[in-house]
Amino acid sequence: MKNAVFYSLAAAYAEEKGAACIIGGHNADDRRLFDDTSDEFFASLQKAITASSPRLRRRGLKILRPLKDKSKPEVVALAAGIGVPLELTWSCHRSGQEHCWRCDGCRRRAEAFQAAGVPDPLASKKV
Ligand SMILES: [Zn+2]
Repeated sequence: MKNAVFYSLAAAYAEEKGAACIIGGHNADDRRLFDDTSDEFFASLQKAITASSPRLRRRGLKILRPLKDKSKPEVVALAAGIGVPLELTWSCHRSGQEHCWRCDGCRRRAEAFQAAGVPDPLASKKV
């Protein structure tokens, strides 16, 4: 459900800034866990967003999900391989200045880094 809100905000921003696409980072593991990361959800959402804005419709706004078929460990390995500053990524589902390392997002992050064989630069900050 929350992705409907996030992508609506992104669409409003795209409309004002002249963007032609919105890029989401959902992976195949997310698609198994959350209904609002499914292909059906995004097809409906894109239709609703473009129906609501002549500017986005003229621009042919697309919601792109280039990682949707990759597992979370594959995404971690890809990110590490292309030099993504992993210390700047955020996985925690709770608010705060640091990852909690107890929520589902933090647990899945730790599992993915371990499965990918990539050291998590934030792991040293575990409390
Ligand atoms: Zn957390």
